[in-house]
Amino acid sequence: MNDICREELRKYQEKYHAEHSTGDLAPTVCALFGVPEPADNGGEALAPVLERATELFGAAARCERLLIHCPDAVGDIHYRKHPELLARVEKLAALKMLSTTIFPSVTPGCFCTIFSGASPEVHGFKKWEQKIVTVETIFDILPNAGKSVAIVAKDSSMARIFRNRKIDYYTVRSDDIARRITSRLIEEDEYDVIVSYTWQFDHFGHHNGPDSPESLEALKFCVETFEEFVAATERHWKKYNRAVIWAPDHGNHQVDEKTGSHGKDIPEDMLVNHFYRLAAGVR
Ligand SMILES: [Zn+2]
Repeated sequence: MNDICREELRKYQEKYHAEHSTGDLAPTVCALFGVPEPADNGGEALAPVLERATELFGAAARCERLLIHCPDAVGDIHYRKHPELLARVEKLAALKMLSTTIFPSVTPGCFCTIFSGASPEVHGFKKWEQKIVTVETIFDILPNAGKSVAIVAKDSSMARIFRNRKIDYYTVRSDDIARRITSRLIEEDEYDVIVSYTWQFDHFGHHNGPDSPESLEALKFCVETFEEFVAATERHWKKYNRAVIWAPDHGNHQVDEKTGSHGKDIPEDMLVNHFYRLAAGVR
C-alpha cells in the first residue's frame, strides 16, 4: 500500500462525499483473483464486492473469469440524467459503487488510477499525456500470476498506455469492431481477464455536447454493449466463478451550446459509478 496514493485518493472522496474511489478497482480485482495488489496501490478493496464473492464462490474459492467494460466519460451525472438507461446496467450489475476519479479528470491518468490504484502524485499523469504507464498495474500482476489478459479498444489512450505488458492488445478502428471482438473472445474462452473499451460517448460529448442526440445514442450503445457482454459471459463462462464490471474513467460537462469537456475538479467530471456483477460457476 502506498500512503501518498491513499491520501490523494481519499482527498477527492472526502471533497465529494463519495464512499469509494475508482482506484479501488485494482485492489478489488486482485483480491477476487487472490493475487497481490499493485505496488503503489492507494485504493481499498471494495468490501461489498468481496462479501458477495465469499457468499457466491465460498471463502476459499476465487474468481476465474473477469470482463471489465470501460465506457469513456459516463459519469454519475449521466446516471442521474438518464435513470432509465443506466437502470439497465444496474439491473445486471447491482453492486453500485459511487466513486471519485482523480484530478485532472482526463482519460490517461484516470485509467492509470483504475488499473494501478496509484494517484497522480505517484503515477505522474498530471495533465493529458499519452505515455506508457510505468507504475505496476493489474496488467503486470495478473500475467505474473499466470492469468491471460487482453485489452480490446479502438485506437486511443486505452489502447496505448498499458503497452509493454505480457498481455494481448486488440487495437481496432471502431467501437463496433471492439464489441464484436470482445464477444468473440468471451465465446472462445482464451482469456481469464478481458478489458473492453468504448470510445464514442466521450467523443460526442466533446464535439456535440453531453446532452446532444449523438451523445444519447452513444450512451445507448454503451448500455447495449454491456448487456451483450453480460449475456455472452452467461452463455460461455457459465462453469466459472465470474465477474463483470462497468468501469468508466470520468464524467463530462457542457461547455457551450455545441460542445462539452472534462478535466475539471467539479462533480460532473469527478464522480462516476462503477457497477459489479458476480456469478458463481455451475460445474
Ligand atoms: Zn475519458
